[in-house]
Amino acid sequence: MACTICDDTGWKPVEADGIRRVVRCDCWRGSLTTRLLDEARIPPRYRRCDLGTFVTYPNEKLIGAVKLARRFAADFPEPRKGLCLIGPPGIGKTHLAVAVLRDVILSKGVRGLFYDTRDLLRVIRSTYNPLVRTAEMDILRPVMEADLLVLDDLGSEKTSEWVEETMNLIVNTRYNERRHTIFTSNYEDTPDDTDPDCLKARIGFRIHSRLHEMCEFLEFDGADYRHLPPNGGVDDLLAMWKTKPNRRTLPVRAKGPIRAQLRPPEGKGRDLGWSGGKAGS
Ligand SMILES: [Zn+2]
Repeated sequence: MACTICDDTGWKPVEADGIRRVVRCDCWRGSLTTRLLDEARIPPRYRRCDLGTFVTYPNEKLIGAVKLARRFAADFPEPRKGLCLIGPPGIGKTHLAVAVLRDVILSKGVRGLFYDTRDLLRVIRSTYNPLVRTAEMDILRPVMEADLLVLDDLGSEKTSEWVEETMNLIVNTRYNERRHTIFTSNYEDTPDDTDPDCLKARIGFRIHSRLHEMCEFLEFDGADYRHLPPNGGVDDLLAMWKTKPNRRTLPVRAKGPIRAQLRPPEGKGRDLGWSGGKAGS
């Protein structure tokens, strides 16, 4: 059905101080945000994530993280820094990141993009084709140019030189272009470099140090929302959190040697040096 205001032209006439001009019709804004949401690659299970209805319970760090996430969305496109949400699985990190992403797409019409880090690396690898050298850039360009990027589950991919180079390219390009990124990770940011499951060991020295420059770190623990019964509420979440086994321990122990570089190699510290999708393994 055609729009009764603009007859689907996307422009509507307005008159102010006797001067007639045209402005964007509300239907155009509606269809634009619908398209932007479709293009953001938000997984179906997160499509209803919403900052306004995010359920919290008496958990100081979680409440603090939600507050800062709301402020980030309100300040967009000029928040001070991006966000890095850290904590064990199930506590709402991805939910919160997607809620911010949806909020700024809906309220500000920005180009947003969601990627699970492991999926992104897999897609970049799969596009390598010796006949079409631009294929990998078709994937990388929107990732580097999105107004807001959510990179979920950072550190989940086993590190290799190629993984680090590729992640450095993405993160450094976004940093240099002053584009904001929200990261989530299950790996604790401990100061102990020798722990193979600390964030720095999982992602490498260079990205870790860049992340601290470009992001506000929000670390929290909490109840696993995935275990909340259908009619459960705030009291259940609090009880689940209080009785959670190993409350401070992060799961998923690394197997095998640490391969991420904890120190930049000689003379290569600031080099983007990405060798392309062909090296992906
Ligand atoms: Zn219209």
